[in-house]
Amino acid sequence: MEYKYELIRSPRKSMSITISNDNKITVRCPWTVSRAAIDKFLDSKEAWIHRVVARNAERLARNDDVIEYRSVYFCGERMKLVIGDRTGVSDGCVYVTKIEDIEKLFTGLCSEEFFKEVDEIAAVARLTPHSVSIKGYKGRWGCCDAKNNLIFNYILFMLPKRIQRYVIVHELCHTLCHDHSPAFWKLVSDYEPRYKALKKELAEYDFLTSLY
Ligand SMILES: [Zn+2]
Repeated sequence: MEYKYELIRSPRKSMSITISNDNKITVRCPWTVSRAAIDKFLDSKEAWIHRVVARNAERLARNDDVIEYRSVYFCGERMKLVIGDRTGVSDGCVYVTKIEDIEKLFTGLCSEEFFKEVDEIAAVARLTPHSVSIKGYKGRWGCCDAKNNLIFNYILFMLPKRIQRYVIVHELCHTLCHDHSPAFWKLVSDYEPRYKALKKELAEYDFLTSLY
């Protein structure tokens, strides 16, 4: 295979390959698998690897200013990020004194309306989360724990409202169905019929969850 990858051997039964948003390739395999078998496995996946790597590279190139903290998304709009002596959003610019201020700024501006939307969808769908909160965390957009406490990542406030709404519907549906079974997706489609397209759109922003 033409790509570099990290190989992790462990007491597992099968081989798997994952590609992160920033194109780090990881191959996991059982202790005893030979190099030849690994190469054969990778060759069989080559077309897929090529496709994913190319797509990620294109997305990263498209967002280089965001990745370098020269711009930041706010509700789906890409704005100039100005690091200086004030904090706020105006005239297509986001002003902060340091990158870490973005969480407090965006949460302050957006959380009230966001909580209202969670309540509205929950009421229509007759779903009752135990609690709803917002925090910053890496690698995911939201979660619903076993006690139906919903936690949403503040980085959602960077995304267009329609995608925020999809994540709300997704996590609310987990209060009834804690897996990603066909029954779960049926429930999601009842409240968000465009969920397939929105899920794809959301994946385009996944890189943001490891950026802040
Ligand atoms: Zn889920």
